Amino acid sequence: MTDSNTDTDTDTEVEAEAAAEALAERVRAGEIRFHALEEHTDADTATSVRRLLVEEQSGASLDHVGAYSFDAADADANIENMTGTVQIPAGVVGPVSVDGGAAAGEYYLPMATTEGALLASVNRGCSVIDRAGGAIARVTATGMTRAPVFRVESVVEGEALASWVRDNGAKLKEAAEETTSHGELDAVKPYVVGDNVFLRFRYDTKDAMGMNMATIATQAACEVVERETPASLVALSGNLCTDKKPAAINAVEGRGRSVTADVLIPRDVVEARLHTTPEAVAEINTRKNLVGSAKAGSFGFNAHVANVVAAMFLATGQDAAQVVEGANAITTAEVREEGLYASVSLASLEVGTVGGGTKLPTQAEGLDVLGVRGGGDPPGANADALAECIAVGALAGELSLLSALASRHLSSAHESLGR
Ligand code: NAP
Repeated sequence: MTDSNTDTDTDTEVEAEAAAEALAERVRAGEIRFHALEEHTDADTATSVRRLLVEEQSGASLDHVGAYSFDAADADANIENMTGTVQIPAGVVGPVSVDGGAAAGEYYLPMATTEGALLASVNRGCSVIDRAGGAIARVTATGMTRAPVFRVESVVEGEALASWVRDNGAKLKEAAEETTSHGELDAVKPYVVGDNVFLRFRYDTKDAMGMNMATIATQAACEVVERETPASLVALSGNLCTDKKPAAINAVEGRGRSVTADVLIPRDVVEARLHTTPEAVAEINTRKNLVGSAKAGSFGFNAHVANVVAAMFLATGQDAAQVVEGANAITTAEVREEGLYASVSLASLEVGTVGGGTKLPTQAEGLDVLGVRGGGDPPGANADALAECIAVGALAGELSLLSALASRHLSSAHESLGR
């Protein structure tokens, strides 16, 4: 770089700092609202003004938060009051072979985490799955739900509304589907509780996770209900959906994608690579994942599925709060003649490859690693493939952790038995 270029760069930086300071002064004076800076300047300058104000107020330095590689305007739909980005270490495990209904081939699985040893552990599981010839995965059910709550006069009116919904499904479907070119309303299930009626709408949202899509479509259908029945809409979400809260309904009926992955690992591979036996893994799975979880009243009958779901959600732009439902998973392990059969079934994995955080540049790169960015062919295929890859990652994580526990048990048993 020449000296004159350096001077120009420095001049530009000085001018930008002066412009940011002038805007910050207007915020301090109450002329511009902190959250409305984008109305007065471009998105990147707005974030720098906010950093300046936050640094001044808190004494913190936001140098790293302010160092990001895309235009702040690209995150406009994803955040308000933006100050920058948080960098989370990202890596991959695999490649692992996935034989799915939508996914097919060898995949590196992208993961972002701050938990050391997680990727090493899942990677070990992937390598064992690959030695066994790969994992099979299938999406067995699809449906994003939204359940508004209505007020009725009495149980008589509640029953009448439930009957009306059963008789007028086509009308509700037409109203809901007018709001979307991709979404399809598959079912509306009424639940009556005294003078409350919950209608649980279930949609096929194709490649979108679909929470916005389902909410907008349900609003349109609720207008029909209110027009044609005496019921009054109290809230568009009545918590029977159930979004971002632990709930048995998701574990039982599913939400988003219900997806299962399994693998049959030859005995010699279990012994050589996992340093344990199929019997030991199966026993630990029963006593820990099934009995222990039952005793705890847990919805998660697994060892650490949330770890893989969270890390792959962060790496691919999923809604992180939906790890709550994503971890509704049951792990099974049994001894077969050939070796160890293991499976993981995630009841309510809410994933998308369009919309939400999937557009952000680093997260879109994560989807590219899996080859599932954007809309699939047919629509829904990319989100199915993503769900299958996450299920296989979860299976790898379960195998590795259960085996680590089993081999520790075995080594201590050998020690005491050998003396
Ligand atoms: P979105 O970004 O709101 O919408 C995605 C849109 O992409 C769809 O509505 C669809 O438009 C379009 N699209 C293009 N190609 C598609 C394809 N192949 N398959 C499906 N859709 C396709 O995303 P969303 O998935 O509905 O909602 C996710 C967002 O909701 C996240 O940002 C999440 O944080 C947020 N969220 C919202 C709520 C809520 O209550 N509203 C709750 C939790 C999370 P058309 O509909 O026009 O076809």
